[in-house]
Amino acid sequence: MAFRATVLTLYPEMFPGPLGVSLSGKALAAGLWSLEARNIRDHGIGAHRAVDDTPAGGGAGMVLRADVLAAAIDAALSPGDPRPRLLMSPRGAPLMQARIRDLAAGDGALIVCGRFEGVDERVIEGRSLEEVSIGDYVLSGGELAAMVLLDACVRLLPGVMGAEASGEEESFEAGMLEYPHYTRPSVWEGRAIPDVLLSGHHGRIAAWRRAEAERITRARRPDLLAGNEG
Ligand code: SAH
Repeated sequence: MAFRATVLTLYPEMFPGPLGVSLSGKALAAGLWSLEARNIRDHGIGAHRAVDDTPAGGGAGMVLRADVLAAAIDAALSPGDPRPRLLMSPRGAPLMQARIRDLAAGDGALIVCGRFEGVDERVIEGRSLEEVSIGDYVLSGGELAAMVLLDACVRLLPGVMGAEASGEEESFEAGMLEYPHYTRPSVWEGRAIPDVLLSGHHGRIAAWRRAEAERITRARRPDLLAGNEG
């Protein structure tokens, strides 16, 4: 069964959006994965289909109601659905390539996109939602975060990257950032491609790339070398 993404959002018209073009869009059209964006508002309360209310205890903003969100989640899942249930949230575990790899190897995901101040805590507990963050900054909604997560998963699905590298040498895969790339012309604005890359000597090329990856990682992300990734 192909990777299935179900996204719960107040803005289903945002999807597939950028996921509908290039690599992920072609894979979507080819049926290598599927995407269903469901409107949380379909489960809203009353004639106005209200989905949010004021925060208990006071304060600014609005909170997505637990009953509304739970109804949207329950309607989106069939019994025994094995997929992880994710809530995009700045409070979540930082998203890492290792988690992306796990998700891409699975059946897909149900992804809840928050809006406003966030969601009622009880639905996180009651529906066992796993909070996932895409970084230490605050977005206005979970939709872009869900797209980031899905884009990163989809490019790893079998058949999506085709003849291109399997991704095994890429940034984060070996706990390091990637080495620099070059292509023609061999000299550009007085800058030459490093000789070793034109030498045809595969052993020396591999050694140079390893050394460059390590140098760049040490300079920019020493935390990765310390083994804190993932
Ligand atoms: N009041 C919340 C922020 C709400 S932002 C707080 O201080 O934590 C509104 C919604 O955007 C969130 O419910 C979440 O779904 C999404 N969002 C914002 N920043 C995000 C991030 N860094 N990663 C993932 N989702 C995020």
